[in-house]
Amino acid sequence: MKTTASALNLPKSDKVRLEDVEKHLKEYATDSDLDLLRKAYVFSTKAHQGQKRKSGEPYMSHPLCVALLLAEMRLDIATVVTGLLHDTVEDTLVTIDDLLSIFGEPIAKMVDGVTKLSKIKFSSREARQAENFRKMFMAMAEDIRVILVKLADRLHNIRTLQYLPEQKRHRIATETLEVYAPIAGRLGIQEMKIELEDLAFHYLKPEVWSKIDEQVSYYRKHSEKFITEVQDAVKKELVSHSIDAEVQGRFKHHYSIFRKMEAQSLDFNQIYDIIGFRVIVEDLPACYTALGLIHSLWRPVPGRFKDYIGMPKLNNYQSLHTTVIGPHVQRVEFQIRTRQMHEIAEWGVASHWRYKVKGEMAEKDEMRFRWLRQFMEWQKDVSDPAEYLDIVKLDLFATDVYVFTPKGEIREFPRGSTPIDFAYSIHTDVGHHCVGARVNGRIVPLRYGLRSGDTVEIITRSDHSPSKDWSKYAKTSRARSKIRQYIRKQQRDQALTIGKEILEKEFRKFNTETSRELRRANLDTFMKSRGIDSEEELMAQLGYGKVTPRQVVHSLLTPEQLREFKGEKPKETTLKKIFRRATGRSKGIVRVQGFDDILLALGKCCSPIPGDSITGFVTRGRGVTVHRTVCLRALSLDPERRIEVQWDERTDNRSTAKIRVLCHDRPGLLAQMSKEISSHDVNISTATCRSIGDQKAINTFEIGVRSVHDLNRLMGALEKLKGVISVDRVIH
Ligand code: MN
Repeated sequence: MKTTASALNLPKSDKVRLEDVEKHLKEYATDSDLDLLRKAYVFSTKAHQGQKRKSGEPYMSHPLCVALLLAEMRLDIATVVTGLLHDTVEDTLVTIDDLLSIFGEPIAKMVDGVTKLSKIKFSSREARQAENFRKMFMAMAEDIRVILVKLADRLHNIRTLQYLPEQKRHRIATETLEVYAPIAGRLGIQEMKIELEDLAFHYLKPEVWSKIDEQVSYYRKHSEKFITEVQDAVKKELVSHSIDAEVQGRFKHHYSIFRKMEAQSLDFNQIYDIIGFRVIVEDLPACYTALGLIHSLWRPVPGRFKDYIGMPKLNNYQSLHTTVIGPHVQRVEFQIRTRQMHEIAEWGVASHWRYKVKGEMAEKDEMRFRWLRQFMEWQKDVSDPAEYLDIVKLDLFATDVYVFTPKGEIREFPRGSTPIDFAYSIHTDVGHHCVGARVNGRIVPLRYGLRSGDTVEIITRSDHSPSKDWSKYAKTSRARSKIRQYIRKQQRDQALTIGKEILEKEFRKFNTETSRELRRANLDTFMKSRGIDSEEELMAQLGYGKVTPRQVVHSLLTPEQLREFKGEKPKETTLKKIFRRATGRSKGIVRVQGFDDILLALGKCCSPIPGDSITGFVTRGRGVTVHRTVCLRALSLDPERRIEVQWDERTDNRSTAKIRVLCHDRPGLLAQMSKEISSHDVNISTATCRSIGDQKAINTFEIGVRSVHDLNRLMGALEKLKGVISVDRVIH
């Protein structure tokens, strides 16, 4: 019986010897150069001489344990040697060049990679954090074995975490839970992910961990008979149909029990899948036969069957999953797979570097690792750190959905993706011209959330183009960045046209024209003084309102020419009329470029607050209305009437924002939230609470805040309250 909680029976590191590593290598890689291994051991021991671990053991016990872990994973000798050497460059006087001349390039490069990874601290500011993730993924893409060594290093460090001071312990455990365990999971190294999670969880929430551990032990003692009963029944049924199978029962690990209890507010005894069964068979047809036989023994639970053999996960995981109503009317989960699939399920990407048969190395070109490759491609053109982090988190933590093209090809998306994501995954043009989608033969709206098994067909029209709200529906970075690029270009084209037009009009007042005057030498001086590097840019800036036509004309024309001004009163444009009429009635928190006092109203539809990205629209007779750039109402307005506006940082006014809090219906929580809100120096103007059943409630607050920064801080604080599930800002 396999137990996942055994991780805490820590082996004594000082008991590990080089012979243990050798023994493993001899077993699976008979052709390994053991002299190289011994040389690395001697070299590393000398380099670390005199250093001690916090546990008091000689430092060398650490690299030795890391090497042993890598050998237990049956990795190639270069990786195991890297394990022995991984801390030499960081912690001793040894240089990369030393390693290069003694151990050769591949090993020196790997040690260099691990050293760089070790310098990354993830608990830093957003911008740094994004940069750190980027570095890590680059290193992984270059040689995936680097991250395997890093994971083994982290695993041994967290196994011996009790010796570190409390603060450091907390940082390492948090980083493990937030970065390294998800990466192990994404790489498909299940064993490692589970141990990393359980150990980190143990250090971060010791009391909760102990409580769950107690419950699991009790449960374990009382379920032995049940496990044997299921194992025997399945085995007997399979044998009678000549299928050779291994049937394993296993317990869910502590951290995943904890997460399920939290996410669904369940008690320990409400979780029915604490025990799961794994059936390992010889070949692929046997998987489906075994599934049929299990379904004939016990009634399957509808909707719980998943075929990851037909639709493998992005990390190549394959299995059949099903849940049945088993003996004593208990729900029982099964995973059915072949031995080879099992290998990949346990070891993921590492299985490509494992020795399949004695001495025979796995094919390296099998190393095509789809997830990493796709990820590297998508993140290429994301420069905003916040967005980059969003993508990383989405890619690391979101579960996937698998959908089909009309031709039956499988595509994979993060949960919550829409037909727009699908369209852009096919081709940029398919995305741009997408007008609708048919899912399983039915027309669906573009915001439809894709579900596993859907067959998706995109409807395009050549004259159609993306609208701004698409980026709200799109989940994948690829779609989002393509949409943004398109919109930016479109806005710029518009600005160019407008810029050319208004400049031409201004020159005409002086009986001259743009094409003639722009040839003047002082154009360069004018542009330079404003940091404009091309004529096109000048036109765009005119269009965006950053430069006025008057400024251009007055700096280009000679005093004689300026005197030629026809003197006629220029025809007043609608825009100007409004500005003139509105003079003196400004709200004082938003400025319109080039005008000091005009009538302003904040859109009621989206209630912008200082710090939001905003845009203005000239309305008929009512001055300028300010909307958030993401406001749907604003997007439906005529772009010709769009005008650039900015927040005036000098004011201290408060604006109204509306937030919605989804939480568990718990006494005292509302009071706690109100207290939190007032402690942030934010006024509440209205608060409503609505129960939505299932012991959950939605609270809506209308509050007065100074800036979006303050609002975000408050929302972050509310989210941390116990019982709060999510906090959203209401836009419409
Ligand atoms: Mn280390």
